[in-house]
Amino acid sequence: MPRFSVILLGFAFAGYAGGVAAQTKDSQRATASRSGGAGCVEIDVQAATSSASAADDSANHGYNLSNLDRSVAPCDDFFQFADGGWIKSNPIPSTHPSWGVGDKLQQNNIEALRQILEDAAKEKGAAAGSNWQKIGDYYASCMDEAQVEAAGLKPLDAEFKRIAEIKNRAGLEAEIARLQQYGVNAVFRFGADSDAKDSNQIIGQAYQGGLGLPESEYYLRDDEKSQQLRAAYVAHVTKMFQLLGDDDARAAKEAKTVMDRETSLAKSSMKPVDLRDPDKTYHKMTIAEVHQLMPHFAWKNFLRDVGASGVSSFNVGQPEFFKHVDLELTSVSIADWQTYLRWHLVHAVAGTLPAKFVSENFDFYGRTLTGSEEILPRWQRCVESTDNQLGEALGPYYVKRYFPPEAKAKALIMVQNLVAALRADLSALDWMSPATRQKAIEKLDTLSFKIGYPDKWRDYSKYEVSRVPYANNYLEGSAFEFNRNLAKIGKPVDRAEWDMTPPTVNAENGSSWNEIVFPAGILQPPFFDPNRDDALNYGDMGGVIGHEMTHSFDNAGAKYDAHGNLKNWWTPEDLKNFQDRGKCIAKQFDAFEVEPGLHENGELEEGESIADLGGLVIAYAAYHKSLEGKPEPAPIDGFTADQRFFLAYAEGWATQFRPELARLLANTNEHPLDKFRTLGPLSNMPEFAKAFQCSAKTPMVRAEAERCRIW
Ligand SMILES: [Zn+2]
Repeated sequence: MPRFSVILLGFAFAGYAGGVAAQTKDSQRATASRSGGAGCVEIDVQAATSSASAADDSANHGYNLSNLDRSVAPCDDFFQFADGGWIKSNPIPSTHPSWGVGDKLQQNNIEALRQILEDAAKEKGAAAGSNWQKIGDYYASCMDEAQVEAAGLKPLDAEFKRIAEIKNRAGLEAEIARLQQYGVNAVFRFGADSDAKDSNQIIGQAYQGGLGLPESEYYLRDDEKSQQLRAAYVAHVTKMFQLLGDDDARAAKEAKTVMDRETSLAKSSMKPVDLRDPDKTYHKMTIAEVHQLMPHFAWKNFLRDVGASGVSSFNVGQPEFFKHVDLELTSVSIADWQTYLRWHLVHAVAGTLPAKFVSENFDFYGRTLTGSEEILPRWQRCVESTDNQLGEALGPYYVKRYFPPEAKAKALIMVQNLVAALRADLSALDWMSPATRQKAIEKLDTLSFKIGYPDKWRDYSKYEVSRVPYANNYLEGSAFEFNRNLAKIGKPVDRAEWDMTPPTVNAENGSSWNEIVFPAGILQPPFFDPNRDDALNYGDMGGVIGHEMTHSFDNAGAKYDAHGNLKNWWTPEDLKNFQDRGKCIAKQFDAFEVEPGLHENGELEEGESIADLGGLVIAYAAYHKSLEGKPEPAPIDGFTADQRFFLAYAEGWATQFRPELARLLANTNEHPLDKFRTLGPLSNMPEFAKAFQCSAKTPMVRAEAERCRIW
């Protein structure tokens, strides 16, 4: 269930983990910034590290000069200058579709989690029902390949039987309801989240879905690469049906049926750019109103089946899509729907099944879609899966070992300095009227912060874990999370909750809660190191904090008021001014070329790019404010403090991508590629040009009339 109010930093890209963990997050933990992910492509980073096992690069707490490529002038291509050395000496491992500073941090973190999980798995005397027993047993069951092979498809027998026994539309709808709890992307997705216009209440949310490719456009584009990809997808679906035991001819026919069903759903899906607009996805309806939209779908039964029978109204994210679903459910044969559901069930849990399923799943979602050459080792997939299903049971052990209270205190000070800088900036903006300014400052003043880990950990007592076949633990965990989420409907929001697990190398801004969140996993070197000089911390982590703060004021975030409600607080003139400034940025990103014939999508990336530029401007101001009354810092390694600030910013984006993944991201992701996240903001900042004494004619400097600036 996409939580549309959350915007992730998108710091790096772990890519498709190989199928073990990949399917849960999109449907259960929700990452709206990844609106492209239709349940199969995990575009998120789960990671962490420790100060102790910190990235080797930053062991000296300084800036690593070997990151540089001095054969390129900083004013010609700052990404290459600042990150070229790092990229050259850090090739992409065969198991990854991309590799960057953030991925390396993630890798350290995963190894730290592995230690914890192996300790837990070894222990025989853990108290039954304790979190230590649960994480140990979950990990052990995932690692027990012999048991997985011996169990075969048995963990799914009951579910396949139910699908086979569907006789009519009522049966079909009941099965769609049932499969929701397992995170199966069956036709659409139903979950719970804040009411965008009454942020203190949790309501039901129906959201478009039902696809096996990353997003709807994949079914509709006509270029050669897209056609090839669709052919590869159909071949993959065919293979999965064969693995389920169907003969070749039948499997091929079934794959065609799946493709027809999904193409039809894709045609009526809302486009990714529109999914970013909270006004376009808010349609709260009473049951009677939903009934008018979908006269043939028995929503009352559906709500009862998913355990939400008291619900009298909910949000329908994409009414046109649901209208179409209603027609499809009446016009398409039950047999075709049974085929479609069988596919989505096996697809959703492929990573937990015997090796032949895992390997076929990786072949398409890893190799073909992202360019990875090899699947991640099993232990790593199992660590990520445990973090996904039991993240807050595992999290306390991680935090205890790797995130001391001092780190939390220091990070908080930095966040407060950034807030003060944004406050000063808002107070002095020349294009904003006093009325809007007052509202903006009010919103900033009510912004809350979450740093490191939750104050209150999630209760897993209703999730039973034992050393049964892995798929059983996985399904049970999916159902636990689904039910836990739906149980919140009608209740006030619990603002202490976290969406991300503590070891995650990412950050987020939750619009409905007017909060910014920084897990322990990202508050680690080189992003943040209390022993580094301030210029580096402000350029790197300061940029991240600024990014999340300014999301509250990007093209989507600006639609929410100080209480986290979707409500306009702008005067018409200020809004127009703001939107024009956003368009300026979108236009710049349209011009960045990913590969011949493929450009970044400025409109899709507008919010993230506003946050990147705004965040860096605010971090720079905060850094200079922190220097007030102090002597000018001396250069280090030949670089002035300002130069080090910008070098640290670029260091955070030192990442390279396989072409397949670069293409996938450019097509689906609202975050531009890391290279452009470096070049874009810097080319708009005269502070950067001044720091490196770039002449007005160099590529890193935009003419004044071409520059964009919001904050
Ligand atoms: Zn962001």
